[in-house]
Amino acid sequence: MKVTFYGVRGSIPTSSGETIKYGGHTACLFAEVNNKLLVFDAGTGIRKLGNDLVSDQRDIHLFFSHYHWDHIQGFPFFKPAYQCGRHIHLLASYLPRKNVKAVLDQMADPHFPVPGDKIQAKVGVMPMDDAENIQLDDIRITTCALNHPGGGAAYRIETNEGCFAYITDNELVPPSSHLNTTWEQWIGFLQGVDLLIHDAMYLDEELSSIHGWGHSLISQTIQLAKDAKIANLVLFHHDPDRNDKQLDSILKDCQNWMKQYNAECTVTMAKEGDVYQISKSTVEIN
Ligand SMILES: [Zn+2]
Ligand SMILES: [Zn+2]
Repeated sequence: MKVTFYGVRGSIPTSSGETIKYGGHTACLFAEVNNKLLVFDAGTGIRKLGNDLVSDQRDIHLFFSHYHWDHIQGFPFFKPAYQCGRHIHLLASYLPRKNVKAVLDQMADPHFPVPGDKIQAKVGVMPMDDAENIQLDDIRITTCALNHPGGGAAYRIETNEGCFAYITDNELVPPSSHLNTTWEQWIGFLQGVDLLIHDAMYLDEELSSIHGWGHSLISQTIQLAKDAKIANLVLFHHDPDRNDKQLDSILKDCQNWMKQYNAECTVTMAKEGDVYQISKSTVEIN
């Protein structure tokens, strides 16, 4: 299975010379798994993915972590949505099923010239019940509830080749009123995961102003990876105010921390265009 990052930022896109290395597009991850096309979130990064998929007529399974702007606002610019004969399946767990309409409703007048019900692709909602596994041929998909305002879903994708988890917009240690999934439950969810992609938006010194916003401290994310014995961790959903230099330095600190605790975990920073190949449970980055 192959995982490619098309958008790695949180909250709002950013474009400047200072963020060019990691990229400025909001959340979008593409996975090619056993001949199926899986997309996670439709942030602004999905526009380029759409261009890359125009000539590939296979069905697209589009999973949503939740429907905040930074996870849906690229959809109106996703070219496959305008292709006759294209099938797009929308999936989301731990969210009211009717809310998936938000993805198409954002195209209503006066926000966008083409209303969501006028696009040419066949867009259907695939049922996905909370805490239930779904099977797409030989791909097993498991979900877990995010700790995030309004809720949302974490996804674990598994085949005989390997397993990755996509967990964004998740506060590992939230105020108790926001707690859906505990630290121990996350560790259980992550057993056997070869590649973990996790929200790592804030620094410890920022906690007092952001506690309850639904995002993790970078220090919490690396602690979870160590506790869950994850071999490959990708830090994701970067703060739009964090520049490349700062992300480089945070990454170095995280790698040193893992060394200091003898944790066998390779930490990387999510970067637009990076491809992770998972094969027989080993992960290669190109
Ligand atoms: Zn977000
Ligand atoms: Zn969010």
